[in-house]
Amino acid sequence: MNYLTKMIKHIMLVSKHRWLVFKYATKAGIPWRGFVHDMSKFSPTEFFESVKYYNGSKSPILVSREKNGYSKAWIHHKNRNKHHFEYWEDVSKTERIGVFPPYKYIVEAVCDKIAAGMAYKGKEWNQTEPYEYWSKIEKNAPVVKHSASIEFMDKVLKKISDDGLNKGLNSKYLKATYNAIEKKYGV
Ligand SMILES: [Zn+2]
Repeated sequence: MNYLTKMIKHIMLVSKHRWLVFKYATKAGIPWRGFVHDMSKFSPTEFFESVKYYNGSKSPILVSREKNGYSKAWIHHKNRNKHHFEYWEDVSKTERIGVFPPYKYIVEAVCDKIAAGMAYKGKEWNQTEPYEYWSKIEKNAPVVKHSASIEFMDKVLKKISDDGLNKGLNSKYLKATYNAIEKKYGV
């Protein structure tokens, strides 16, 4: 694939992802978070690395890690995008501490997971996918998450899995769930 084709395909993929996140963020009552979602992908650090390692079936971040052992685009991305749990991880000299993100960012994270799964699975996607992916992969991934974050993701993604996107992304339901968890953990 030549460079220009990779560039166009990357722009289309990012735009499609951003559109889906916007659609679900609007449903969840946080349209602005959907509108600005992943804007930093158009910054030079993220954009050019992603074009260079463009691959239709997996993230260019993974390709960069396979080739170089790391991804500078990802470092740039996670330090600027509050919808990633990596942003909310504090690292001291002796430990790593997860912080419970503000409401709008953790809801944006839910929308991101739905959209990412849809892109990856295509026609095979169904409402059980985000919960399955979260439970099998992300929940136990090395990034340290606050227990409140884990409980929120468990509850909301299970709700989507059982009752569908309309019920799981209902803003009254999301706010009540967030407030109850916030109170329970005192965060
Ligand atoms: Zn992101």
